[in-house]
Amino acid sequence: MKYKFKTQSELVKIVRLLKKQHKKVVTFNGSFDVLHSGHIGSIREAKNQGDALIILLNSDRSVKNYKGPLRPIMPQAERAELLTALEDVDYVTIFDEINPIKILGKIKPDVHCNGSDWGRNCVEREIVEKDGGRLHILKWKKGKSTSLIIEKIVKVFSQKTIKAVFLDRDGTINKNKEGYISKIEDFELTPYALKALRKLSKTDYKLIIITNQSGIGRGYYKLEEFYKFNDWVLKYLKKQGIRIDQVYFCPHHPKDFCDCRKPNIGMLLKATRDFGISLNDSWIIGDDERDIIMGRSANLKTIKLGQKIKFSKLQPNFYASNLLKAANVILDR
Ligand SMILES: [Mg+2]
Ligand SMILES: [Zn+2]
Repeated sequence: MKYKFKTQSELVKIVRLLKKQHKKVVTFNGSFDVLHSGHIGSIREAKNQGDALIILLNSDRSVKNYKGPLRPIMPQAERAELLTALEDVDYVTIFDEINPIKILGKIKPDVHCNGSDWGRNCVEREIVEKDGGRLHILKWKKGKSTSLIIEKIVKVFSQKTIKAVFLDRDGTINKNKEGYISKIEDFELTPYALKALRKLSKTDYKLIIITNQSGIGRGYYKLEEFYKFNDWVLKYLKKQGIRIDQVYFCPHHPKDFCDCRKPNIGMLLKATRDFGISLNDSWIIGDDERDIIMGRSANLKTIKLGQKIKFSKLQPNFYASNLLKAANVILDR
């Protein structure tokens, strides 16, 4: 940074030398607060107007004077350091006034660049043209500005993160049995399931069941039977003080190669779209390797219920012996 960063008096000497070598000196001033691609494009365009580009950087005091007390976001030393790292920038100096007229009078550039929002009718024009320089109006990229970036950051961070606990159904909420579970008489809860789900219902996690139901695709039970059973389960859980926000299921046969059958992440993506969920802040609890692989591939934190098993590659983040212990893992964090 040192070799490009100059005091104003150092710069005056350098410009004198450059002019002796018949180099065309270009100046461009600004605050360059939170550097973005609009800045980079303008700087490149400025550099193309001559041989040596000098950035006249508004000091922190000067930025405060025209953009208010909360700006700049980045202090002048950091703004200067970023600018000196750019290939198109030859020199950087800092000025303290609200406009660069004083320093332009000292440097006497061949070309001074300015954004289109001020245009030809800018305060710098007189001083630049007086010494035989010309003004170049940059093609400013509208829609790219530090203020817009800051607005977007504020918007993103003021929104509440929506997070979810995704739950497998069979083997996680209710016990797995021989064959497929599609009838009320086959519904038997796993140990502590009610207590666990009640506890989770009191949190602001969305509770979403994600279940493979290939029994439909295999022809073991019909779609209507699944819906009937599902409705009964949800009503039953509701009566127990449990909130389930949504159920997603894959009805397909494995040979359909659909993108919703776990370990594929289709159902998760659907839930994310429907609820605006941040997967990064969410969890999956399941008893099967497929639940864990799905979760890990989608950046969820994963809890494997039951015994440790040998996973082919992706390991679960946690093991829990029952649903309540799994819920506690989540609530303890
Ligand atoms: Mg299961
Ligand atoms: Zn499917």
